[in-house]
Amino acid sequence: MAWAAGDVVVHQEIWRDRVWAARPLVVVEDAPDRMLFWLPAGTVRKVPMTPPHREDPGERTARIIDLLERGDWVHVDHVWDVSCLWILRPGDWHAVWASWLPTGERYGWYVNLQRPVRRTAIGIESMDLQLDVVATPDRIWSWKDDDEFQQIADRGILDAATVGRVRAEAAEVIGRLEANDPPFGEDWDSWRPDPAWGVPRLRAGWDDPSV
Ligand SMILES: [Mg+2]
Repeated sequence: MAWAAGDVVVHQEIWRDRVWAARPLVVVEDAPDRMLFWLPAGTVRKVPMTPPHREDPGERTARIIDLLERGDWVHVDHVWDVSCLWILRPGDWHAVWASWLPTGERYGWYVNLQRPVRRTAIGIESMDLQLDVVATPDRIWSWKDDDEFQQIADRGILDAATVGRVRAEAAEVIGRLEANDPPFGEDWDSWRPDPAWGVPRLRAGWDDPSV
């Protein structure tokens, strides 16, 4: 059953049968070939953190590698800071995020490499695969977390097939970005969220990986 615009769903990231991170998303559009979600600034999400019984590495990449390898993360709240529209197609190994500044000006593009989305009883599930591409509104792009992705690949945390799939997907999306193909060439500048949506909140069950 399709969701309606304004519904709040849960996006779960799952790593080795545990919820790695979770956030609420507002449904904008739920069509067979594309899903759109709104993630406004101010949304509180759950992110993984080093458990209190051991020392935190103090640096993001080392922390993430430790947590992915050990599987002992705890969750802490984190307030999201840039309003984003998520553009997802079934089967893609990435999401495209169009983002806006608080002034309403376009901030840019973010291509998040991730496992293909699966629908759950409370929303959607995928897993961030660390590599990202960022771009300005006029599509000047650069890598983000490329070194982190390479370290994760070198440590064998992601298998070679997955690493190759992510690199190939990134190259394909960059090609579309440079060519201004959809979704990049569509008119997002005039898109605005429904003011009635407000800031979504996580519902119970966000920490259950089996929903
Ligand atoms: Mg990412």
